[in-house]
Amino acid sequence: VIEMGQPNHAVITTCAYCGVGCGLKAELKGEELVRMTPWKDGKANEGHACVKGRFAWGYATHSDRITTPMIRSSINEPWRQVSWEEAINYAASEIKRIQAKYGQNSVGAISSSRCSNEEVYLVQKTVRAAMGNNNIDTCARVCHSPTGFGLKQTLGESAGTQTFESVADSDVILIIGANPTDAHPVFGSRLKKRLRQGAKLIVIDPRTISLVSTAHAKADYHLPLTPGTNVAMLNAFAHTIISENIQNKAFIAERCDSETFKEWLEFVLLDENSPESAATITGVPAQTIREAARLFATGGKAAIYYGLGVTEHSQGSTAVMAIANLAMITGNIGLSGVGVNPLRGQNNVQGSCDMGSFPHEFPGYRHVSDTATRNQFEQAWEVKLDANPGLRIPNMFNAAISGSFKGLYCQGEDILQSDPNTQHVEAALANLECLIVQDLFLNETAKYAHVFLPGASFLEKDGTFTNAERRISRIRKVMRPKSGMADWEITQALSNALGYPMQYESPSDIMDEIARLTPTFASISYAHIEKMGGSVQWPCNPQNPEGTPIMHIESFPHGKGTFVPTKYIPTNERTNKRFPLILTTGRILTQYNVGAQTRRTSNTVWHEEDLLEIHPHDASDRGVEDNDIVQITSRVGQIAMKAKVSTRVQPGVVYTTFHHPVSGSNVITTDNADWATSCPEYKVTAVQISKVENY
Ligand code: SF4
Repeated sequence: VIEMGQPNHAVITTCAYCGVGCGLKAELKGEELVRMTPWKDGKANEGHACVKGRFAWGYATHSDRITTPMIRSSINEPWRQVSWEEAINYAASEIKRIQAKYGQNSVGAISSSRCSNEEVYLVQKTVRAAMGNNNIDTCARVCHSPTGFGLKQTLGESAGTQTFESVADSDVILIIGANPTDAHPVFGSRLKKRLRQGAKLIVIDPRTISLVSTAHAKADYHLPLTPGTNVAMLNAFAHTIISENIQNKAFIAERCDSETFKEWLEFVLLDENSPESAATITGVPAQTIREAARLFATGGKAAIYYGLGVTEHSQGSTAVMAIANLAMITGNIGLSGVGVNPLRGQNNVQGSCDMGSFPHEFPGYRHVSDTATRNQFEQAWEVKLDANPGLRIPNMFNAAISGSFKGLYCQGEDILQSDPNTQHVEAALANLECLIVQDLFLNETAKYAHVFLPGASFLEKDGTFTNAERRISRIRKVMRPKSGMADWEITQALSNALGYPMQYESPSDIMDEIARLTPTFASISYAHIEKMGGSVQWPCNPQNPEGTPIMHIESFPHGKGTFVPTKYIPTNERTNKRFPLILTTGRILTQYNVGAQTRRTSNTVWHEEDLLEIHPHDASDRGVEDNDIVQITSRVGQIAMKAKVSTRVQPGVVYTTFHHPVSGSNVITTDNADWATSCPEYKVTAVQISKVENY
C-alpha cells in the first residue's frame, strides 16, 4: 500500500483529530499532498472517515505556520528569529538560571495529547531526568484524567475495556455525557448501524443530542438530567437494579471483591440513592429512571459509552467509578458487546496518559513513589529520580501566581484558550520568567512566551498514536518538517542542552525503550505493529503477543473488581437569582477543540461560529430571539455571542460550543474541579443571559 519514493505515491497514516484514530491514506503528487482518503484496512474505521479527517488538513501548509524559532527576553519586546541552536540554548539556559535562583521545582512542562507517544515520552523523561522533578502534566488533565483515576480504582486499569467493533454485539447501549455523531463520527456511524439492527438506546444527557431522535436513530429512553447530577442518576440506576434483584449475582460472586461489594451494597440501598431522590436532584421522573435501569440490567449485553459530559465535573472521578460499579453489578465486563468505553476527545489522550505524563506516574501508570519502579527507571536512564509527585496544571498556575513556579515548557497545547478561568491563567503566565511554547502557530498562549519552538504537524513525522480503544497505530511522515525538526528532535535537543544526554536516532528507537520499561507495551515495536496489520491494542506483551481487544475477560489486573461507594455531592456552582441558568458545553461535527487547525482550512464549512442555545421560555423571558447577540455573565467573567432559540436544551439550561477564540467560553468557566484529579468543571457554569441592544 505504501509506495514511498514514487512520483505519485500514498502514505498510510492515522488521523490527528479525535480519539477514534481512523487510518488515513495521504495521496501525494510529487511532494504535494493532494488528497486524504480513509484507509480501507484501518481497524478503527473500516474504510470510513469523517469530514475533519478527510478535508481539514490544510492547516499543515497554512501561511500562519511559524517555521523559524524565535526568542525575546520580555513579552513586551518583538520576537527575534534565531537559529535552532540559539533558541534551544537560550531556553535551556533560562531553565537552568531559574532553577539556580528559585530551586529545582520551579520549572516544569505540559505535554500534548496531539503529539505522538514517542514525543510525549520524551517530554516527561526530560522533566524527570533533565529538570530533576516530576512537574509534568498533560492536557488530558482537563478532559479524561477522571477516567484514568476512576477506572484504575475499580477495574484496575486506566483504560476503556473494549474494541470499537464490540458495539456490533451490544443489545443495549447506554450513552452518558457524550455526543458520538458529532464528536466521534466514525464510531457514531458504527453505533447507528447497530441501532438500526435493533439494539436499544438509553441516552443520559441534558441536551437532545441527535441520537435521541433522528431519521437514523431514536432513543428508547432520553433522560435529560440537570447538568452536574450524573452521580445521582447512576446511583439510582444501581439502586433500582439491586432493589429489584436483577443484578448479575454470578458475576459479582466470581469476579468481584466481596468486601468492597458488601460495603457498596449498604451504601447504594440508602434512600438518598433511590429513583425518587434522584428525580428531585436530576429533574427526570423516577419511573423513567427505573424503566431505563431495568432495560440496562435485563436487555442483554449492555455497553456504556461516555465522554467529557461525565468527566468534566466536580464529581467526574466519582461518576466514572459509578459507571464501573454499574457495569460490574450487571456482569457487563469481559465480553464483546459490553464494557466501559470512554470516548476520548483528542487523538492521543490515551497514549499521553500511558506515556507517564501525569506528575505522579511513570509510563504504564506506576506511581513515582514506588521504589522498585523508580529503581528500574533510574537504572535505565542513569539518573536519580524524584520520589515525590510533581505539580498538576492548576497547581502550576497557582504556584506561578504565588511566585514559586517560574519556567514552563508547553508542548502543543494552547492553555490560555483551553483551560478554565482565562483571567487566572493569564495572571499565571504573566508571572513566568520563561515560557517556552512549542506549537505550529503563534497561539494565544504564545502572547506570554519568551521562546517559540516551531513544532511539526502529524503529517511531518513518524510515530504512534493510541486511540480510545487502546489501539496503537502508526503515523508516518508524509512531508518534510516545515521547521526542519520533528517534535521529538526538539525535545531531545532541549534535554541535551539542559545537560541530560539523549541520542535517539528515530521514533522507533524511542518506542523500543518504552517497550523495555513498560510491561503493558513489552512486545510492541514498529516491526510488530506492521506485522499486526498496522495497529495493535495494548496490553501487548509476552502474555498477549497479539494485543488485547477486550480486557478483563477472566480477571482484573488486581484480581477482583473493586466497588467504590459513590456518594452524590452537589457542585459548589449553584444557580441563584443573579445567575439563574446553567451553561454546559459540547462540540459540533465540523470544528475541533479551539479550532486552531479546522479554522485554518480553505473551505468555509470550517468557519461556523459558536452559538448559545437557549430554550424558548428562557429566551422569551429575556426578549431574546434567534440571531440576537446576547451577553453571558458568570461569576468570573462575561462574553457575548449569537443566540439560537432551541428546544434541544431544557428550560434553565443553556449550551454552547468552545471552538472559536472570539467567543472565548473559558472566560466564563470557573475554577471548580474534580475532587480527585483537578479536571475542570467545564460542564456546569451558573450564568445570566441578557440581550445586547444595538450590537
Ligand atoms: Fe479523524 Fe475522528 Fe473523524 Fe476519524 S472520526 S476521521 S479520527 S476526526
